[in-house]
Amino acid sequence: MNISEVIKDRGVVGAGGAGFPTHVKVCAEADTVIVNGAECEPLLAGDKFLMETAGEKVVMGLVYIMDACKAEKGFIALKRKYLPLFRVMAEAAAEKDNIEIFPMDDFYPAGDEFILVHEVTGRLVPEGGIPTQVGCIVDNVETVVNVLDAVMNNKPVTRRFLTCAGEVKTPSVIEAYIGTPINEIIRTCGGATVDNIAVLTGGPLMGCLETDLEAPVTKTMSGVIVLPGDHPAARKRTIPFEFMVKQSKSACCQCTYCTELCPRHLLGHRLEPHMIMRQISYGIDVPSRTIENAFLCSGCGLCGVYACVMGLSPGVINQKIKEKFSKIRFKPDFPLRDISVSDLKDYRRVPAGRVLERLGLAKYAAVNLKRGVSNNPGRVEILLKQHTGMPSIPVVKAGDVVSSGTLIADIPAGALGAKIHSSIDGRVTHVDEERILISNLDRN
Ligand code: SF4
Ligand code: SF4
Repeated sequence: MNISEVIKDRGVVGAGGAGFPTHVKVCAEADTVIVNGAECEPLLAGDKFLMETAGEKVVMGLVYIMDACKAEKGFIALKRKYLPLFRVMAEAAAEKDNIEIFPMDDFYPAGDEFILVHEVTGRLVPEGGIPTQVGCIVDNVETVVNVLDAVMNNKPVTRRFLTCAGEVKTPSVIEAYIGTPINEIIRTCGGATVDNIAVLTGGPLMGCLETDLEAPVTKTMSGVIVLPGDHPAARKRTIPFEFMVKQSKSACCQCTYCTELCPRHLLGHRLEPHMIMRQISYGIDVPSRTIENAFLCSGCGLCGVYACVMGLSPGVINQKIKEKFSKIRFKPDFPLRDISVSDLKDYRRVPAGRVLERLGLAKYAAVNLKRGVSNNPGRVEILLKQHTGMPSIPVVKAGDVVSSGTLIADIPAGALGAKIHSSIDGRVTHVDEERILISNLDRN
């Protein structure tokens, strides 16, 4: 098997975002591979933990990816403020002439892959494009480690490192079994410290509000952020879209700050959130060119959290517009055109610490995280769609006995997708088109 087939066989997907299947990504032609070690969402620390404890694995995983896509150059991009980590990674990569540790400033969103590509190579990903169009592959730290484990250790993806932070007794970086219920993760961290909690999965800016605490950990879940139920970061996520539109119509003063600070706008993309806010007053049923530009939004959330003087959320509006049009399978074309970076880009960068303060989360960042906690949940619910592409097809049935690492769901023939493996030893107790439930044998 070549490297891409091994990666496919072990179910590796992008651990930092939408879960794009890595075996497809590494087949692209690229001269440069960038490991995204910026971990720019506040409070998250899983990637830093991995680099601290498994720096050599990150370097070796990068070498395998570079081999697979025949890239000449590899970079590991890190914020320069993590000086000790910088030294660890520099040491791990010391023998590799074609791998460099790339220092980044501490701004948000330093980990946006378009920004990363521009920072590291000076190349601009076109509007509506992807990094491979400019010869780059960007992979998250945990993805790279999973590639190494797949190729060297024959290990499928059955666990993931996630940060459980906020209102829990012992905020921790946890090595979680895929399929663990979220409330089990919170229990592992000593339980919640307040009665009424709201839980965000992912980071505090780009994560989602999760109301079902039985919902399982997936291959892409980087964080479980526990907040007081009435925390603004949680409350904002409960506002219905129609109400947001009404708010925008009545409160948007067209100050343009959201556009001026928008990181994608500053890269030269024609995304102008203030124009979208103006246009939604006329309705979005017929997508005008202005509304279509919502597809250029990365969803970083900076406009809502930091820029808007009226407390509006243009980024959330953009995501809703994208969801609405994706449902009717509408995707705009963005013809290739010359773009150039704004001269003001570096002056309009927002320090990550300021974003954290605005979010009202600074007190949670000041806490030392417990590292490397792990627990076996005894039962797991493994979703069949936790990646970009088609849901996987179960290859087990209720009653089957499986081991950690057994293939339980496969990629539909000819489709984009990812294989899924059991994360624990146990018996399959339920299979449907969305999930597979597995319990430890002693629980049966
Ligand atoms: S920053 Fe807020 S008020 Fe100003 S244009 Fe953007 S959405 Fe409107
Ligand atoms: S969320 Fe806001 S700031 Fe971020 S890319 Fe979208 S429009 Fe720009």
